[in-house]
Amino acid sequence: MFAKISHITPVSTAPPADDLTSVLVTKGIPCTRQRRLVWEYYLNVGKAATVAEAAADLQPAGVSQATVYRTIAIFAELGLLHRVQVRTGEACYTAALPGHRHPLVCCECRRVIEFAGDDDLSELQRRLELETGFMIYGHHLEVYGLCAQCVEKRSTSRWSGLLR
Ligand SMILES: [Zn+2]
Ligand SMILES: [Zn+2]
Repeated sequence: MFAKISHITPVSTAPPADDLTSVLVTKGIPCTRQRRLVWEYYLNVGKAATVAEAAADLQPAGVSQATVYRTIAIFAELGLLHRVQVRTGEACYTAALPGHRHPLVCCECRRVIEFAGDDDLSELQRRLELETGFMIYGHHLEVYGLCAQCVEKRSTSRWSGLLR
């Protein structure tokens, strides 16, 4: 009998937003106003946003493009932001929320829904352990598709095309 691996390391161990300071401080990175604004932008934007979009939206708040680029690179390195794939191949990021969660990404409008992934792949991981002898402790999962609104939009434009 194989011992059941009861712990699965969460994919995301990012702390809640109000803990941003302590994450940065433990890494010796000052939590500046600009860095906080970049973090808040990704927490609230509600989609997988490109670096250019973040830079454009944060410019009025006085955050330079160079700062946005550098901050996103730091946050991605620290696991505070997750890079997700979109159809166009652009680098898009979403805020990594605490706990075992995965993003469901709309390929058209880049809306992101985070869903709880507890025990999601435990069957598969158990099977892989039996087959390969690996001791598996985690996984990375992103799910893609079209959101309900984009599906609706597509079917509407198909109909209007037929009626023309
Ligand atoms: Zn969509
Ligand atoms: Zn999972």
